[in-house]
Amino acid sequence: MTRKIRLSKQQQRQIDRRRRVANDTDSSLEPGIVVTHHGHDLLIEDAEHHLHRGRARRTVGRLTTGDRIRWQRDEQDNVLIEQREDRRNLLIRPDAYGKKKMMAANIDQVLVVTSVLPWMNPEVVERTLVAVFALPARPVIVLNKTDLLAEIDAEQRECIEATVALWASLGFEVIRTSVKSGEGIETLRERLHDQVTLAVGLSGVGKTSLSREITPRADQAAIGAISAFNREGTHTTRASTLYRFPDGEGGLIDAPGVRDFPVDTVPTEALEEAFPEIHAASAYCRFNDCRHINEPGCAVRAAVDDGEILERRLQQYQALRATSD
Ligand code: GDP
Ligand code: ZN
Repeated sequence: MTRKIRLSKQQQRQIDRRRRVANDTDSSLEPGIVVTHHGHDLLIEDAEHHLHRGRARRTVGRLTTGDRIRWQRDEQDNVLIEQREDRRNLLIRPDAYGKKKMMAANIDQVLVVTSVLPWMNPEVVERTLVAVFALPARPVIVLNKTDLLAEIDAEQRECIEATVALWASLGFEVIRTSVKSGEGIETLRERLHDQVTLAVGLSGVGKTSLSREITPRADQAAIGAISAFNREGTHTTRASTLYRFPDGEGGLIDAPGVRDFPVDTVPTEALEEAFPEIHAASAYCRFNDCRHINEPGCAVRAAVDDGEILERRLQQYQALRATSD
């Protein structure tokens, strides 16, 4: 015998809402992606690459740039965001007041941009790799301004070439680019086409120049609409913006203030991915919990002594491991 349960209107509404959230394939809802926002005003792009202003139902929670959402028009024909898809990752940074802020979600890859001049400390790049793996996302190292290689002194050039060769030999993807000569621009464009990408790197390495070079001219109208929307924001700290390419799924995230990723705590797996040669050698250490400092039978120290692993890399690994979980 089935028992009839009477539901209050409020209970019924709650159940309806839960159903709505649970039902990902609700065909009345359209897919979209958050391009930028200020406060509760959101700018989204639909599947046909059209921009719409909208608001989210309170039950959706806070949204950030890159969030994949489902939306429909309400009775007043306003765009109403009904659902948010699960995030693959979420970049959180403290704002000017130290308050943690969501910067962007669903980042596929991070371009770790470095340049011939100013040449950044390799440790900065490698620390960033750890943070990218921790996100988790795929890092791509970009060596920009290769046109200047001919102009710097031989010693500096050899140092840069050796470092870049080391990164490539460890399995990291490295793309050499020059906005001036055009080297690597097409390769980079293809690499970005279907990926949501964030570029990080010190000021002056050429992030702005590269993204301008990559972004198709056809995008200028959309860029104009986005900056008009951004100018309306009264917030002192501007939100990130996702500049989507007119074809494909990819786009570039402009995240103000995000030049590198400081890491508070490093997951062990991210550290292992960023230091694959140390991780591989450690399998042969006598002790499972070897710290590669001065333990007997340490295969990592032996590899450093043999010149197979750079002392500099082990030191950096040790420093980062001190912050690992
Ligand atoms: P950002 O601070 O990382 O966004 O760097 P910018 O894109 O503003 O570039 C800093 C400076 O480097 C500018 O003067 C650019 O014209 C210059 N620059 C960028 N890319 C290249 C390049 O490939 N070769 C040379 N020679 N200069 C470049
Ligand atoms: Zn060891």
